[in-house]
Amino acid sequence: MIQLYIPLNFLGVIYREIKQSLVDLDRMFELMDRAREVADAPGAPALQLAGTQAVRFENVHFAYDPARPILRGVDFEIPAGKTVAVVGPSGSGKSTLARLLFRFYDVQQGRVTIAGQDIRSVTQASLRQAIGIVPQDTVLFNDSVEYNIAYGRPGASHDEVVAAARAARIHDFIDATPEGYATRVGERGLKLSGGEKQRVAIARTLLKNPPILIFDEATSALDSANERAIQAELQSAARNKTTLLIAHRLSTVVDAHEILVLEAGQVLERGTHRQLLALGGRYASMWALQQSLAVDDGTAPALA
Ligand code: ATP
Repeated sequence: MIQLYIPLNFLGVIYREIKQSLVDLDRMFELMDRAREVADAPGAPALQLAGTQAVRFENVHFAYDPARPILRGVDFEIPAGKTVAVVGPSGSGKSTLARLLFRFYDVQQGRVTIAGQDIRSVTQASLRQAIGIVPQDTVLFNDSVEYNIAYGRPGASHDEVVAAARAARIHDFIDATPEGYATRVGERGLKLSGGEKQRVAIARTLLKNPPILIFDEATSALDSANERAIQAELQSAARNKTTLLIAHRLSTVVDAHEILVLEAGQVLERGTHRQLLALGGRYASMWALQQSLAVDDGTAPALA
């Protein structure tokens, strides 16, 4: 099961990298080579988890290319079962935090720990089993919607798949299609919108039921009804999970335990929504801007 899950996540990342930068095949092999650089330490034990656990980034420095630092001394903790949201301009390093937590790359200085264990010291399989990712772009198989959701936990019963779909608020949509859960999706099947695909990814992750969640919010602008729906799904997915939320819309971060404003790889401001508004700095001006744009046309634009 573990082996099955990893390639999909890996493909998802590669796919996103390709989409982001229109890389050619050489670049794809380069990315795969980099991923291979991350190896299990000899005799590495499995990550020890008893229930929900805290995640810590301690003085993390990272660069894809040594000449261009991306993260420059990032420090934060996501207490067990809480959500920490990261906001900031495009390219500030938000998704890089997610890639480091999933250990697609190793930090160059500092460390990332889960339940006090440096993630470089445990097996990658156990690390990735503990984390669920809801990416911006979900990769779906050319198979039934049932298969695509059950992929979160191969062997799950139909009732469990339906329960996950209900919690992710995609059940009614699936039920309304002529073939229901047997409907084929993907390139050669039913085309799903970005939001629907993300809901399938949430259902898949709810079924996997990992203690740690990474939610990389889609960047596209949503109408306010859709935005409220995504927020509700996000809250149900993140309940009791230690969650890293990479956010593009400030409305989704309001209830976070802590919000980090990342700029050029450093934490510029941190605090709760209320504290950051009271601070009257960068976050407060981003909030004011987003509010005024949302009032103008009824939509909440993405920040990055
Ligand atoms: P966005 O909001 O647009 O998703 P982000 O804050 O998540 O942006 P990252 O994806 O973390 O930003 O990227 C940070 C910087 O690192 C960017 O300048 C990006 O071009 C660069 N970068 C990202 N991935 C790679 C890679 N695989 N190799 C080299 N540089 C990369």
